Amino acid sequence: MNAIATPQGLPGQPHIAYQGDQLMVECVRLSDLAREHGTPLFVYSKAAMLSALAAYQRGFAGRKAQICYAMKANSTLAVLQVFADAGCGFDTVSGGELARVLAAGADPAKVIFSGVGKTRAEMKQALQVGIGCFNVESEAELDVLSEVAVSLNLKASVSLRVNPNVDAKTHPYISTGLKGNKFGIAHEDALRAYRHAASLPGLQVVGIDCHIGSQITETTPYLDAMDRVLDLVGEIEAAGIPIQHIDFGGGLGINYNGDTPPEADALWAQLLAKLDARGYGQRQIMIEPGRSLVGNAGVCLTEVLYLKPGEQKNFCIVDAAMNDLPRPAMYQAFHQIVPVTPRAGSVTADGTVYDIVGPVCESGDWIGKDRQLQVAAGDVLAVLSAGAYCMSMASNYNTRGRAAEILVDGTKAHLIRQRESAFDTFALEQLV
Ligand SMILES: *Cc1c(COP(=O)(O)O)cnc(C)c1O
Repeated sequence: MNAIATPQGLPGQPHIAYQGDQLMVECVRLSDLAREHGTPLFVYSKAAMLSALAAYQRGFAGRKAQICYAMKANSTLAVLQVFADAGCGFDTVSGGELARVLAAGADPAKVIFSGVGKTRAEMKQALQVGIGCFNVESEAELDVLSEVAVSLNLKASVSLRVNPNVDAKTHPYISTGLKGNKFGIAHEDALRAYRHAASLPGLQVVGIDCHIGSQITETTPYLDAMDRVLDLVGEIEAAGIPIQHIDFGGGLGINYNGDTPPEADALWAQLLAKLDARGYGQRQIMIEPGRSLVGNAGVCLTEVLYLKPGEQKNFCIVDAAMNDLPRPAMYQAFHQIVPVTPRAGSVTADGTVYDIVGPVCESGDWIGKDRQLQVAAGDVLAVLSAGAYCMSMASNYNTRGRAAEILVDGTKAHLIRQRESAFDTFALEQLV
C-alpha cells in the first residue's frame, strides 16, 4: 500500500504546490479551473517547463549544443510554442508531428526526424520543408531516403541511430537500447551502415545518435552509452567519414513517486567531462529530452463520481480514464493522486484505501491502486506528473471526447485546447 500523498509528497515541483488548503499551479487555484472548465482537465505550468529547460541550458553553457524537445511527450501547439520561443529545436517521429510543430512556429532547420518507419511521403514532406536532420534507423531506410532526396534534387542530412546495447534499467516497454529492440543499428553493423550512407548520392552524413530508453533514473547507462558511441565516432572518422554532431537522445526520468533521477545539469556535467576527456568536447552536441521537460509541469484534474465500497476492494470512480491517462494501463505506471482541496484530516493516515478507476469498460482502466484518500463524490483530485505521455497518448475509446487543456502563466490561465465534444469524435465518419 502506498502512503497517503501529502503536500510534502508532491514530486519536486515548486510551481505546483499547496497554498493553505488549495492546490495551485503557479498563482492559479486548481479548484477554480475545475469549476470553470470542467473535468477531466489538464493544467500545465509554463514556468515549470521553462525551469526544466533551463536545467539543460545551464548544463550546456559555453558549449555548442542544440536541445530538440521530443514532442511526442506532449505535442499540444501552445506547449510547442513555449519551447520554440525559448530557442528549442524538436525531435519528431511522424509527418503529423512535423506539420504540427511547424504550425506552432518552429524553425524547420532545428527539427530532426526520428523513428523506424518513415514513409516516402513523410521523407518528401520533411525534405521539402528543409528539416535539419534525419535520424535513420536501418540500412534499408538509407536507400529509400537517398532515392527520395535524389528525386527532389535535394540532399538529406543524416545521422544514424546506433544501438549501444546498454541496459537503461527501466520498464521493458520503454527500454530501447538493447539488442532485442526494434530501434537503431547494431553497434557491430554501424561502420558498414556509415560507409553505405556515405556512398549514396542523396545523403550527406552529419551525425550520430542514440536513445537508450525512457524514465532513466541512473547516470551509469548514459555514461556507458556515451563510451560506446564515442568508440564508434573514432572508427567512423578513421574510415574518412566526418561526424559533425553527436546526439545522445532523451530518456532522463522524472520523480513520479520518490524516484531520484539526476538533475539535467548534474548529469551533463558528468557526460561533458567524459566527452572532454575523450577529446570530443568541442563537437556539436544534440539531445532529445521529452518527459523531463514536461512531465512534472502538468496535472490532470478529475472529479470523483462515485465511491463504491466492496468486500475486497473499495473503488473511487472518477471521470478521467485510461483514454485520458493511458500510462497506468499501458505500463503499470504510478501517478500520485492528491485532493485539490484536502478535506480536514485527509493528510493524516485515516483515509480509506481505494483503487481509483475510470468509467471505461476495461478492468485495465485504473489510474491508481491502493491509495489512501479521504474523499467524497464531487471532490476534485489532481493526478500529478501528467504533463508527459498523457494527453499526447489520449484516445477516444468509449467515444469519450479528449480533455481540455490549460496553460498557466503566473496569474493567467490560457485555454489551449477545447474539450472535444461527442460530435467531434465522429465528425469524419459517414453512414452508408
Ligand atoms: C521518445 C524519444 C525521446 C524522448 O524520450 P523521453 O524519455 O521522453 O526523454 C527521444 N528520442 C527518441 C528517438 C525517442 O523515441
